[in-house]
Amino acid sequence: MRMGFAYVNQKLKQRTEEFTRFIGQYGYFPGKLLPEAFDTSGVGPYHARAMGNPLRERRTAADWASSSQVIEIAEKISSFEGLAEIVEADLAALDAEKRPMDWRASTVLGELRFGFADGDHSIATMTGHASVAVDAVCQRCLEAFQLTLEIEPRLLLLGQQEEGEGYDDFEVWELQEYAFRPLDAVQEMLIMALPFAATHDNMAECKAFSTEDEVAEEMTTPFADLRSQMKQNQ
Ligand SMILES: [Zn+2]
Repeated sequence: MRMGFAYVNQKLKQRTEEFTRFIGQYGYFPGKLLPEAFDTSGVGPYHARAMGNPLRERRTAADWASSSQVIEIAEKISSFEGLAEIVEADLAALDAEKRPMDWRASTVLGELRFGFADGDHSIATMTGHASVAVDAVCQRCLEAFQLTLEIEPRLLLLGQQEEGEGYDDFEVWELQEYAFRPLDAVQEMLIMALPFAATHDNMAECKAFSTEDEVAEEMTTPFADLRSQMKQNQ
């Protein structure tokens, strides 16, 4: 699988369309969201960056790899603008009194490591892990809950003409102008980890499974239909 900005944007657009179509049917979505709001800074000049935060630095793949840099991630979700947009739009479906007020305080935690995949030190890699508990709306019962997203990136950082053959346990991240910003890759992978329709993992916590809650019961059917439609469209 090949990733990179073009890929992210296409995927985000697709995701946004699905999402807009999904909530559009119920008429409670206030306006448009992505991809305009998504930070596509990969092709632009440097963004102002927080001092001393390597997650936001844009350096060449060779530079990252030869530095053997280790990045500890402890970053509020609001720093991941594309992901935060999606979470915000999802929560907009809730009545104001049910909406978690501190959803922006969710913190992405993890660690990234840079190095080379090969002995010749020509193929840069980024590996590691990250996780975050985001606030989301359960599509069965329409209540807010905490959805845990976990990623374990194993990326080859390659230019557009470069091949990563022989490294099947890695995914290819396509570089723009040979530059790489770790935050972009972490954000993309977290977005990809979002389910198409988030639901409570634990049925005991989901009001849709409580027979006393007739409203939630009613809501179950259209969402279930829509989910199966979306599955077929994938
Ligand atoms: Zn639920």
